[in-house]
Amino acid sequence: MPKKLLVLGGGTGGLIISREVRERLTPDEVEITVVDAKDKSEFRPSYLYVAFGYRMPEQISAPLEHLRKYRINFVKARVTKIDPANRRVSTTAGDFTYDDLVVSLGAETVETGLPHTWELEPSLKVADALSQVRQGHVVIGVYSLPYRCPPAPIELAMLTHFYYLTRGLRDKVKITVVHPLKKPFENFGPMAAKWMSGFLQQLGIEYIGIGQGQAIKSIGKNELELTNGERVKFDTAFVVPPHKAPDPVLNSDLAKNGWAAPRNPANGDFRSEKYDDVYVVGDVAAPNVPVGMAGTILHSYSPWVVNNIVADLAGVSLGNPPFRVTGTCALDVGGFGMAAACDFTPFVKKQKPYPDCMFLPPSPVTRMFKEMFEKIYFNWLLGVVP
Ligand SMILES: Cc1cc2nc3c(=O)[nH]c(=O)nc-3n(C[C@H](O)[C@H](O)[C@H](O)COP(=O)(O)OP(=O)(O)OC[C@H]3O[C@@H](n4cnc5c(N)ncnc54)[C@H](O)[C@@H]3O)c2cc1C
Repeated sequence: MPKKLLVLGGGTGGLIISREVRERLTPDEVEITVVDAKDKSEFRPSYLYVAFGYRMPEQISAPLEHLRKYRINFVKARVTKIDPANRRVSTTAGDFTYDDLVVSLGAETVETGLPHTWELEPSLKVADALSQVRQGHVVIGVYSLPYRCPPAPIELAMLTHFYYLTRGLRDKVKITVVHPLKKPFENFGPMAAKWMSGFLQQLGIEYIGIGQGQAIKSIGKNELELTNGERVKFDTAFVVPPHKAPDPVLNSDLAKNGWAAPRNPANGDFRSEKYDDVYVVGDVAAPNVPVGMAGTILHSYSPWVVNNIVADLAGVSLGNPPFRVTGTCALDVGGFGMAAACDFTPFVKKQKPYPDCMFLPPSPVTRMFKEMFEKIYFNWLLGVVP
């Protein structure tokens, strides 16, 4: 009888882990099942391209049915309960048991009603909102920490700048970023904050940094009330909504401080704190690692997760390379790209206050890197180029 690997979530983490385990173990050795509420997986970094009309939704998503090519089962169903003590997961398509479980359910957004680029549907409303402002104030706000891809609000601000620049309206439109961090990119260290502050200044983008986890207290009609008491009026606003762990995680004993808790991430152990046969990876666990929510970060530590699963299910030890947690974020500045590439290992191990980062300044080559990654993503994970 093959062992059973159950993977909750068919996003970045679910796809990487299921594909990598399948490359190492045959269907006779392990039956792999991926469960996701949606039947398509989306490449989230390209929501920004959808928002600005550079891509159609079907160009940044691919059917999870393609997993069957790799003899991985896909079940479209909502996970409703995780019961690790009894090795049982309840879904809208029935109950599942497992030998090993991977929880890669990501983070959920709590919608505020304003458009933004953190989910597909709200991204489709950004272009409309931009076109309605020919003069006035556009605000890009971040409700609270944590949220997916820490640098992305800055990218949204820069693309907004480019949007009005190319329409000859930039001098009539004020752009402001409202953010929980006192300075932009402060989480990447003081040098990064200085560099990004200067860059935003050059583009004429105002930055209001609050200096606490929650920046926005309430959203009124054309006005944001900030947690420092300030009120910011806007003609249109894009607000990164609060993020939370999905309820089945919150309602299980896998959660700590509101997010899934890995056992010893500083040493590459992403088993849940309590259960040897449950792994918690990606955005759902990021705040407890602690790292930002980024697919590249989860990709960097996935070999340790895969190797442990192969050892659990087949009794084969593949050995581990030196442990590193790294991440890359490529930002489109409009015609140009820039990128941050960080090694979070010393930060996660509490050896340094910040990750070691390097930055690629704006250049067309870096933009190409971003676009290439978009094309490679689904080809790599689902064998298809949308
Ligand atoms: C605008 C933007 C830009 C980004 N840019 C970058 C970047 O440049 N670099 C980078 O590294 N990362 C970037 N990211 C972040 C990256 O997309 C995420 O970190 C990554 O997708 C996380 O993978 P995951 O598997 O943890 O979660 P996800 O990819 O979100 O997958 C979670 C899956 O679980 C499913 N799910 C959730 N709840 C349930 C349930 N109850 N039942 C069934 N299924 C469920 C969802 O449908 C989803 O398919 C960006 C994100 C955004 C929004």
